[in-house]
Amino acid sequence: MASSEDARREELTRLVMAAKPASFWLDSPDAPAVRAPLRGEVACDLAVVGGGFGGLWAALLAKEANPGRSVVLIEGSGIGWAASGRNGGFCDASLTHGAANGRERFPAEFETLERLGTENLDAIEAATGHYGFDCEFERAGTLAVATEDYQVAGLREAAAADGVKFLDAAAVRAEVDSPTYLAGSWDAGNTAMVHPARLAWGLAAACERIGVRIAERTPATGLASDADGVTLRTRHGMLRARRAVLATNAFPSLVKRLRPYIVPVYDYVLVTEPLTAAQLASVGWRNRQGVADSGNQFHYYRLTADNRILWGGYDAIYYFGRVMRSSYDQRPETFTRLAEHFFTTFPQLEGIGFSHRWGGAIDTCSRFCAFYGTAHRGRVAYALGYTGLGVGATRFGARVMLDLLSGERTELTELEMVRSKPLPFPPEPFAYLGVQATRWSLDQADRRSGRRNLLLRGLDAIGMGYDS
Ligand SMILES: Cc1cc2nc3c(=O)[nH]c(=O)nc-3n(C[C@H](O)[C@H](O)[C@H](O)COP(=O)(O)OP(=O)(O)OC[C@H]3O[C@@H](n4cnc5c(N)ncnc54)[C@H](O)[C@@H]3O)c2cc1C
Repeated sequence: MASSEDARREELTRLVMAAKPASFWLDSPDAPAVRAPLRGEVACDLAVVGGGFGGLWAALLAKEANPGRSVVLIEGSGIGWAASGRNGGFCDASLTHGAANGRERFPAEFETLERLGTENLDAIEAATGHYGFDCEFERAGTLAVATEDYQVAGLREAAAADGVKFLDAAAVRAEVDSPTYLAGSWDAGNTAMVHPARLAWGLAAACERIGVRIAERTPATGLASDADGVTLRTRHGMLRARRAVLATNAFPSLVKRLRPYIVPVYDYVLVTEPLTAAQLASVGWRNRQGVADSGNQFHYYRLTADNRILWGGYDAIYYFGRVMRSSYDQRPETFTRLAEHFFTTFPQLEGIGFSHRWGGAIDTCSRFCAFYGTAHRGRVAYALGYTGLGVGATRFGARVMLDLLSGERTELTELEMVRSKPLPFPPEPFAYLGVQATRWSLDQADRRSGRRNLLLRGLDAIGMGYDS
């Protein structure tokens, strides 16, 4: 006979499997018509590969800075179909995957990076107003919550270091009510909640309005260069350009030597049905912050404009051989686990259903924040490795790529963060074995009051990690 735990799990599996297997954000009647692919030979000043946030910002900023420059963006599938249309929509000021990571890795320039990050988020907000992006931009901030005793002191210290408000159990529960919360910290200004697919679609429309040409269903299959510039081979033609930007995220880079630096890590998300007024009142959430809990394996969650709860994270799955596949977008056991954790956090919402379930690949690098550089003797620039915090940081990455292509020294090109690289991941089978051992160790640390084992301490010492 099945135990009551098994029966509960089966019930939750039925509940999550009734949801639509698609990104809530992309599953919208507002999705624009697909643009035509590139055919024949086309020439331009700047080619942009990738139609997610990184490529779209690069195209927009390049054209804004120099309206006379011809810019062509090619996207292998559709605008925003990958990470940019599947994420949690936390548009964070941090360029370093959080303050703690930035402070630890770049102590000498941490304050500069924080300033640049705030300026970047301000600029995204300004562009949203200027171009009229219909992306439900709400600068609601984030609430970090402690759900285990050992996390409380860590949150208090981090709140003091970052100058944000520490909340005791009663105060955090007055914001968002969960019986699992022991404390919280509220960073009110440094994160906006956005509808990410609408942001990508809005960026693409803005690009076209100022003269960028966009081609969808146009994967670049090869990249070569000569004295005159670069050539991108595509399925139905050729794109010649003086310079190129690669914003291809977790996908295999057209510059092969970059591939060891990235592993695609799958992250999964559920979205509930819209909460009724009574359900919403039972949770509170008047200030509509994004929320993240404080384990190594953490959940992130937020309200959508129509008051659903988006609930994602925890499992961060790496598949052998750096393989990316559409079948990996669905993982029933992870959805069931996410639902279990959801109802532990919000028992008052028992009975609510889920409307959408999906997953997507994150471009994880071992330092958790993007790295940058050039190839083909300075004619090609790239930014990669945003590791789960790229909704905002991709705009900054786009600026870095354009500065690098200009050949000039700028504030951005001189940053240690821009000049240095993370440690690469080893080849298979060591990458897979290493990731599994690290995930196991992180899970153990979460169960043992945060205590890190020898493997994690060794990785910390050499500056290498695994995160989503
Ligand atoms: C489930 C999930 C949740 C996340 N949550 C958050 C969050 O809440 N906040 C946050 O800040 N970040 C989050 N992220 C990360 C964030 O979504 C990404 O960092 C960001 O969208 C990266 O944008 P991008 O343009 O670099 O990549 P993508 O959006 O992946 O775009 C890359 C594009 O390049 C195209 N491409 C690749 N190779 C080629 C080629 N050879 N030719 C032509 N086109 C090519 C692809 O088709 C793709 O459209 C999340 C990611 C996932 C998957």
